[in-house]
Amino acid sequence: MSIVRVTDADSGEFTSALKELSIYFGRLSEKKGRDLTYNLLTYGCQLNEADSEKLSGMMASMGLVKAEDSGNELAPADVVVMNTCSVRENADKHLFGNLGVFKTAKKDDPDMIIAVCGCMMKVPANVEKVRKSFPYVDLVFDSQQIHKFPEFLREAVSTGKQVARVGDIDYIADDDFFPIDRQRKFRALVPIMYGCDNFCGYCIVPYARGRERSRDFDKIKAELEELAALGYKEVMLLGQNVNSYGKGNADGKKFADVLRMASDCGFAHVRFMSSHPKDLSDEVIELMGERDNIEKHLHLAMQSGSDSCLKRMNRPYTIKDFYMIADLFREKVEGGSLTTDIIVGFPGETDEEFEDTLKAVEYCKFDAAFTFQYSVRPGTAAEKLPDRVPQDVVTERFGRLLELQNALAAESNQKKVGQTCRVLIEGISKQGEGTYTGRTISNHLVNFTIPEDITICGDASLEGRLAMVRIDRARPYSVDGVMESLIDE
Ligand code: SF4
Repeated sequence: MSIVRVTDADSGEFTSALKELSIYFGRLSEKKGRDLTYNLLTYGCQLNEADSEKLSGMMASMGLVKAEDSGNELAPADVVVMNTCSVRENADKHLFGNLGVFKTAKKDDPDMIIAVCGCMMKVPANVEKVRKSFPYVDLVFDSQQIHKFPEFLREAVSTGKQVARVGDIDYIADDDFFPIDRQRKFRALVPIMYGCDNFCGYCIVPYARGRERSRDFDKIKAELEELAALGYKEVMLLGQNVNSYGKGNADGKKFADVLRMASDCGFAHVRFMSSHPKDLSDEVIELMGERDNIEKHLHLAMQSGSDSCLKRMNRPYTIKDFYMIADLFREKVEGGSLTTDIIVGFPGETDEEFEDTLKAVEYCKFDAAFTFQYSVRPGTAAEKLPDRVPQDVVTERFGRLLELQNALAAESNQKKVGQTCRVLIEGISKQGEGTYTGRTISNHLVNFTIPEDITICGDASLEGRLAMVRIDRARPYSVDGVMESLIDE
């Protein structure tokens, strides 16, 4: 597998393909007497969301307009792009079901374009199935070749034939290569690295997103400075394993350097995701404690509390190593929240191993956890492991874990009651009119109301504003409060 850096020198074809497509869609739009629209369906993690912001930016440059209900699988559009994820269970059924639905739409309008990309298109069996069973799909390409989307699309449009471009090269194209259509006006997603070298037994990501490769430090810096100047309040530094940032780069910069630099840019919140226990440095934890604008939230996947189970998962740390990190985090990051991922029922998981997981959860007192029942991902090492855990045993263990973790999450939320916290507002809450939602720097979800004597100027949604909120009630997964003041007037 080779890694290829995409540079400005490669932008010629990219730009001319965008131009030619904008002429093509312009003519089609005239013929139809209306704007042409696109519907972009994004599944999976924030890295896929970041890819979709680029796809969206490219389609806007082609003269396409985002469909009113873009993201809704049923929204009609002239161009439909499905950015798939292979991590979620049943992702394949979902994709193939949707492609079946689009068949009628394509029959009614042969000019319609259907493209499928993302992690699932790195799995040869999925690509073959799309090619054979869904011949009306115009374009298939994998997540590493997103910078070639305009060229592939131009080929599909000009030949009228299905184009499938799935390769074994891991590209790294810098963000300044793309027009990016950021989805949130206050939060910018900034990938700092791509791919993963860890090959955890249950995970498809290293196969789908390729080998680990880090962006240039100076390019990240330039992008962050620009985002800060544009007024973004929050930046989310993304990578499958941000703590091993820099591997293979000549300048010797580590993740702590990126974090410090992002903090210096002056964002209100600097967040990052994801972290692997084997690569997390003490320096990163120290920075989290020292800097006011670096999040006081560490999401660190534990996966199991048993050393033998971790070994089978190919997770190279012991539970004692994990405890040391948890202890250091609690000591250095005052008021911080520690969250995790846990898999129940990994092949061969014994009663004792599961009891070790419960003990570890008790020890670490996670503020929140994503808990999963193991399910096999074709192509991963765990697929071949013997001793599958019977479903009734998995269900029983999962219930016990959930009960324990829910109690810990409620405890964590309860501790917030009585405190006044700085909240970055995300908009109107789903709880109903007059209620807003946002997050603290410890990533606690806060729903709050505004007293009548506070007058709000500007955008009524308050999206991206900073407020002080007094917390007066804990719920299982969030807290409620009342705003005391806006602090960014
Ligand atoms: S660190 Fe493990 S779980 Fe995370 S993306 Fe890499 S292989 Fe998957």
